[in-house]
Amino acid sequence: MPGFELFGDLERNELNDVLNTGVLMRYGFDGMRQGHWKAKELETTLENTFQVNHAQLVSSGTAAISVALAVAGVGAGDEVILPTFTFVASFEAVMMLGAIPVLVDIDDTLTLCPNAVENAITPKTKAIMVVHMCGSMGNMDALKTISNKHNLVLLEDACQAIGATYKGKPLGSIGNLGCFSFDFVKTITCGEGGAVITNNKQYYINSDQFSDHGHDHIGSDRGSETHPYLGYNFRISELHAAVGLAQIKRLPEFLEIQKKNYNILRDALSQIPEVTFRTVPEGGEENYSFLNFFLPSLEITTKVSEKFKQNGVDACFHYYNNNWHYIRKWNHLKDLKSLFPISTEVKEGLEYLKTKTFQKSDDYIARNLSCLIKLSWTDEDVNARANKMVEAIKLAL
Ligand SMILES: *Cc1c(COP(=O)(O)O)cnc(C)c1O
Repeated sequence: MPGFELFGDLERNELNDVLNTGVLMRYGFDGMRQGHWKAKELETTLENTFQVNHAQLVSSGTAAISVALAVAGVGAGDEVILPTFTFVASFEAVMMLGAIPVLVDIDDTLTLCPNAVENAITPKTKAIMVVHMCGSMGNMDALKTISNKHNLVLLEDACQAIGATYKGKPLGSIGNLGCFSFDFVKTITCGEGGAVITNNKQYYINSDQFSDHGHDHIGSDRGSETHPYLGYNFRISELHAAVGLAQIKRLPEFLEIQKKNYNILRDALSQIPEVTFRTVPEGGEENYSFLNFFLPSLEITTKVSEKFKQNGVDACFHYYNNNWHYIRKWNHLKDLKSLFPISTEVKEGLEYLKTKTFQKSDDYIARNLSCLIKLSWTDEDVNARANKMVEAIKLAL
């Protein structure tokens, strides 16, 4: 997955354009910048690549989710439905706005279970956040039907699945708003960065202003801009945007490499009857950044995970025992360990986490291994890895 593996002259050249002018900021300084507008150019490229009307760059994927929720009007006391298997950023973004994360079960797609979503809807529900984990996707038709029926905002966190498609449409472009991350370990990276994409013009205008202190961006004198409403600083720098611009042009190349490596590993594991693969919704095509498979039990999965580590099969994650991606170990959330006081609404809204169990999610995550697909592997590397994986699994069964 990580685009940093194939850094080269393209990235350096884009970056040098910015360093040569010295304009490190995306706004203003028109005279000094000698025609270089890397952030703007990257936004246009994102719009074309992901077939949407608008893209807004921001400082991170977490910022993208926060901005997306804010511009859709999610705030104090609102409930946002999201999966138990995700990245901590999902609930962080919700809570920053004073809203309540409502975690629900996943299914064998490793993303939101549509039934669990429907069952969690209350009069306070404002948005559904589907998180396209590990290169694949949620059942977008089912989630769209639910969000339309209940008049909810459908937000796609496509941070881990950039380039994947559902029924021919790029992930991120299907819901009301889509979010990407360009942090250091993502398929497209610029160190730190993110983007909100949407076809909704008002959401876009709001994103543009909200992510830059509420500046209206009218005219070319920042000092005389007005503020239609309150905002924050979630800006991306021109340096980051330059690297992102080089990387996004390489997305097709990265996807092709991932697909080739993924298929070699998948074909090898397919020969073991006890191995099953995550379900990809009908009409979906993964971005092949991870190979996700299930083993028969927690015990066997733990054994395989250990054997992988012993035998040098790195970057295969057993999220059941992971602090970042699965609810089981999020004690800081369950115990509301906050540096500052949390509103009563959110405190009460999160009471359910003290008692609620997620058996269905536990069952899938306990038996799942998620193996990162690297871009820098040679054919020899992948084939050797495939053999080691098969051997380790057979020994553990
Ligand atoms: C990486 C990631 C984010 C957050 O992105 P940052 O740029 O690191 O803030 C959000 N959601 C998911 C699913 C991610 O993998």
